Amino acid sequence: MVAALALSMCVMVTVSATAGEGGSALIPTALVPGAVQVERARAGAVDVAADAIEVAQTVQAEGAQVAIDAAQLEALQAATARLDELLVEATGEEPVVSRDVPASRSGDRAAEDVTATAPAAPVAVDPTAPIDPASVFEQTPAPPTVPLVPPAAGKEDETTAELREAVAEVATLTSTVRQSAEAKRVADTAAAAQAAAEAAAAQAAADAAAQAVAAQQAQRAAWKQSLLGYANGKIPDSALCGVSFDASVRLRCDAAEQLDVLNVAYRAQFGSDLVVNDSYRSYAGQVACKRTKGYLCATPGTSNHGSGIAVDLGGGIDSFGTRQHRWMAAHAPDLSWGLPSWAAWGGSKPEAWHWEYTG
Ligand SMILES: [Zn+2]
Repeated sequence: MVAALALSMCVMVTVSATAGEGGSALIPTALVPGAVQVERARAGAVDVAADAIEVAQTVQAEGAQVAIDAAQLEALQAATARLDELLVEATGEEPVVSRDVPASRSGDRAAEDVTATAPAAPVAVDPTAPIDPASVFEQTPAPPTVPLVPPAAGKEDETTAELREAVAEVATLTSTVRQSAEAKRVADTAAAAQAAAEAAAAQAAADAAAQAVAAQQAQRAAWKQSLLGYANGKIPDSALCGVSFDASVRLRCDAAEQLDVLNVAYRAQFGSDLVVNDSYRSYAGQVACKRTKGYLCATPGTSNHGSGIAVDLGGGIDSFGTRQHRWMAAHAPDLSWGLPSWAAWGGSKPEAWHWEYTG
């Protein structure tokens, strides 16, 4: 009598609650007829399979969004498609979750989807079967993990077993994809943070370099102005600068700085330092020069040696056509050092040794 009542009940649990036949929905599986057990097991498996596909597709989308390993995505997609096929076979209808058709599904199936309206409840449940609480699967939004088809509690058919196996595979692959997606998100975040830090460091370095250049330009401008208050040949030694390779050299500081740079290149080329025979020349020195060398020395008070921006070089540079002179002619202008036109070959008073700073 109790069994008959239970069999007459519909699938809604509320019916059993209002029927006032307490306990009628909790009939042990062993007492349920075999055919009903088979049907119920399959219905439960179909519900789980539909949920599993939904979760798998959500996770697959997450994985694709962060571009995890394509092989993992393809494996999950293939397993989901197989489960989808089984679902169709099990229900004889289009699956509940046929909206997001996996790419692997055939075109004709997709075409059928257009005309088929997904049934809300495609599960063929015996309306007379009692409800076993264990077989009620909640239709909740995508759960965090893929549900599994519970182990067989009674009789079941081959389709149910296949669904259980296929769901398990989808669950495993979904878990793999989810872990990869999470790891990729973490890695991407770390990489983005590192890139931002590197960009900030690069910007800071560029700013510092720009400031250094600006400071250097300001210093040179100041040096260039530094001797304007002194008459030719009347510059105190404290206002002049030396070079690193020759303690006797005295020049305006910017000229000295660039001559030092030029010497580094010269030494790299010839293996020795520039030979500087004369640099700043005081007024008294110019007078002495004129007295001893005559034509070769400028009128006292007019020589650029008296302004601290001229040098007389030796070591081969003092002869036109030598390797050293040709090298100087080619490279010194890069550092604002050069042979003035009057001192050049063919000039009014050729002096291969006399170089001036023009910066
Ligand atoms: Zn000279």
